[in-house]
Amino acid sequence: MSDCLFCRIVAREIPATVVHETDTTLAFRDISPQAPTHVVLVPKTHAPDAVALAAAAPGVLDDLFLAAGEVAKAEGVADSGYRLLFNTGQDAGQTVFHAHLHVLGGRRLGPLA
Ligand code: C5P
Repeated sequence: MSDCLFCRIVAREIPATVVHETDTTLAFRDISPQAPTHVVLVPKTHAPDAVALAAAAPGVLDDLFLAAGEVAKAEGVADSGYRLLFNTGQDAGQTVFHAHLHVLGGRRLGPLA
């Protein structure tokens, strides 16, 4: 059994509210939402962060962005706008070291940092 939290969500060993799935990606609601829409998209294969994913499987990075667009449409934020965010490393606030793309929207978002 993997000790990676998001690998375990992908394997359905840990529950999550899944909102979108493709062959290579899974999207679920963040358990601690920072905006009315807060969905986390993960690659089904493990990479510790987005840059590592880009090196190992660049096509999957494309898949994540395309899936994010589908999620934004389904959540009703595609027209009003939304934020796509990869925290990368501890100083950025990354807490789960399996690459993940945050989709945040549904309210006017403040400046970064
Ligand atoms: O970018 P960062 O690593 O901080 O993001 C991890 C995100 O995963 C957090 O927003 C956290 O709320 C979310 N999370 C989740 N379900 C879990 C554990 C963490 O949605 N079971």
